[in-house]
Amino acid sequence: MTTTTASAPAPAAAGEPPPSMHGGIEAAADTRSSVPQLEVRPTRFGKGVFAKKEFKPGEKILQFKGRIYSRKEYLSKVNPEKCHYMQIGDDAFLGPTTTPDNFVNHCCEPNAGLKIHKGKAFLVAVDTIAVGSEITFDYSTSMAEDHWEMDCACGVPSCRSRVRDFKYIPIPLQHKYIDLGIVPDFVMRSAGLADPYDLFHAAEVTRGSEQMRVAHA
Ligand SMILES: [Zn+2]
Repeated sequence: MTTTTASAPAPAAAGEPPPSMHGGIEAAADTRSSVPQLEVRPTRFGKGVFAKKEFKPGEKILQFKGRIYSRKEYLSKVNPEKCHYMQIGDDAFLGPTTTPDNFVNHCCEPNAGLKIHKGKAFLVAVDTIAVGSEITFDYSTSMAEDHWEMDCACGVPSCRSRVRDFKYIPIPLQHKYIDLGIVPDFVMRSAGLADPYDLFHAAEVTRGSEQMRVAHA
């Protein structure tokens, strides 16, 4: 991930070549060519990812890549001023890349979200994203780390000013993101919430045993 602070970071921490899952260092030109429906270009915060086609809600935009680091490795490597790591599990952090997934900015009113399926992390549209629009997601939906935070100046009316772990964002916003299906299980658990299956199952059990007794009248 990249940041939305005024002092935008370089694509990767200086002196640390971006690792790749594919056995080598990816070409610097990858930001232009690897995902033809996306474009990486400068923004007021450094670089951002823009749509070159229209995306519909639920449509997959890209896969987040990078070498996977443990929490311990992540904590030893991360530079809080230039964070390009993204948490995808309790003990799994994707490292920096040179591909568009490295440059997706945070926004407090995002048009995309994170979905993790079988250990792979994908960015999916949650709104219709028009050609030319910047694509963003809410970094808090991937954060259960109690370590890295950042200031936010995304400029939307509901900007939280500070991007922190999911458990700290307002409850109504948590519910909005959960309803959109863009809160990974490990993030749900970190906020003291069961995963969606458990919630569904608990509701079914409650209905069966209590005959729809109204619990919050
Ligand atoms: Zn913001």
